Amino acid sequence: MVGVNISWPACLKDKLTFTRFTVQSLQGLHSKVVVMGAVSNPKIQKLLKKYRSISLLEKTKAVLEWDLNVNLPPKASRARARQIAFITQLLTRHWQDPQLRKLIEEAAAGREKLTPIEKAILRNLEYQAQLYFKVPAKIIVERARVTAKAFPVWKKAKEESRFQDFAPYLQRIVWLSQEIAQYLGYEDNPYDALLNLYEPQLRSKGCEEIFSQLQPALTKLLTRIQNSPQYSRAHQQKALFEQFTYPQATQRKLALFVLRRMGYDLKAGRLDSSAHPFTIDFSPTDVRITIWFRRNDLRSSLMAAMHEGGHALYEQGIPPELEQTPLESGVSLGIHESQSRFWENQVGRSLAWGSFLFPILEASFANFPRVELQDFLLYLNWVEPGLIRVEADEVTYNLHIILRFELENALINEQIKVEDLPEMWREKMQKYLGVEPTHAAEGILQDVHWSLGYLGYFPTYTLGNLYAAQFAQTMREEIDLEELLSRGELSPLLNWLREKIHRHGSTYWPQELCQRVTGQKLQPHFFLEYLQHKFQQIYEY
Ligand code: MG
Repeated sequence: MVGVNISWPACLKDKLTFTRFTVQSLQGLHSKVVVMGAVSNPKIQKLLKKYRSISLLEKTKAVLEWDLNVNLPPKASRARARQIAFITQLLTRHWQDPQLRKLIEEAAAGREKLTPIEKAILRNLEYQAQLYFKVPAKIIVERARVTAKAFPVWKKAKEESRFQDFAPYLQRIVWLSQEIAQYLGYEDNPYDALLNLYEPQLRSKGCEEIFSQLQPALTKLLTRIQNSPQYSRAHQQKALFEQFTYPQATQRKLALFVLRRMGYDLKAGRLDSSAHPFTIDFSPTDVRITIWFRRNDLRSSLMAAMHEGGHALYEQGIPPELEQTPLESGVSLGIHESQSRFWENQVGRSLAWGSFLFPILEASFANFPRVELQDFLLYLNWVEPGLIRVEADEVTYNLHIILRFELENALINEQIKVEDLPEMWREKMQKYLGVEPTHAAEGILQDVHWSLGYLGYFPTYTLGNLYAAQFAQTMREEIDLEELLSRGELSPLLNWLREKIHRHGSTYWPQELCQRVTGQKLQPHFFLEYLQHKFQQIYEY
């Protein structure tokens, strides 16, 4: 379950569409907010004031969405939809405020004179406002209208495995995405305009460069693992562990134990369960997570807790003085995902942490398989090419992303048609993973993203894996990671992340942040070396 992601629609919207924006109003409500001492430019000060209302509306909407996903009584959904739509309307109005636009343009005209912090504030505002400034309102409204209809259609089509029911909606969503790309602008590939919406400065060329290194190396690694002496043993262990049941109350206790050890502040957050795990923040002092439980799979809740805990620690670690400013959240989806994947994989699936956790699990469940540590580690790092992205292991996960990237790129560039997708999906699954879906629900219809209009989102998951590995390698050069993990001591890890990443909020864009943290740009080889080193130990090839 490497892919337990921000995969719930409300949260996707929260992270993607509006996070970090604002305008002001409601004098007095904001008067307590710290205006950053570093800001002296009067235009930026005015922009900060305007942003506060956007931020407040955004967080208010997030509370409604959290409640929708965690607590909502069945009869309340229509009323809740109206409430969320109303706040969304208000937010859009704030973004389309001509005064905000004028201020941003005036501040941009004097960009050279701004301090680095002021420049970062302006840059983030320009980035987030681009959709509202460049794309005509009727296109944005049309996209909202089409995706609102497309989501339930996708859900039902998935249940019934009928791609033909969803295809006309997807057709329209692709067309709208092409239109949006035209308005946003791009150099040579319209898909770049969409990628850039989800990860600042991400381009298809950059993705291709990364994927062309990853794909052959991952395929080779997978073959090695499949031919290794321990491969069938790993499968036996998985089957064995799944014969047992693990009470939900105990799973929850363990999740809380791990979250506390990670440094998640439960006085500034809470743990609930929901259909899909997600993280949502209303302020650095209120960052909530949800996980899910599987009776026969104790990894599900643990890994979800570590994944979402990683997202949550990032938001809890953002300094109060950045709150309600355009620097207030994690900087991008890719960097956010690096934090969740760091805790889930680099920590949660590591041999050292696994050896710390094993006796605790044994002691916690009255009914626990009688296995040796080595077998537990095989279970934890079970590898198999499968059909479903969110269930994929660390080795095969990115192959699922490569497939989606190639299809989206081809769709937006009109090299393939929507009706070709199921067949292309089958071909690429066979090519990259050696397995083929027998029906659409386990193939083309498995992900929610396209139904919500999120074309260009998937590559950020791979970026998360790569950033996590590169950050972890840099961390290893400074602290004895394996030693700390084997003792279950996680606070030095969190302190490192706080110092290097969290405290900056979104002051530095991903590429610059990576350079500052690791001394170089993003390099896929860190991830590949990490995988090779780890799986060689586990699978003894
Ligand atoms: Mg995630």
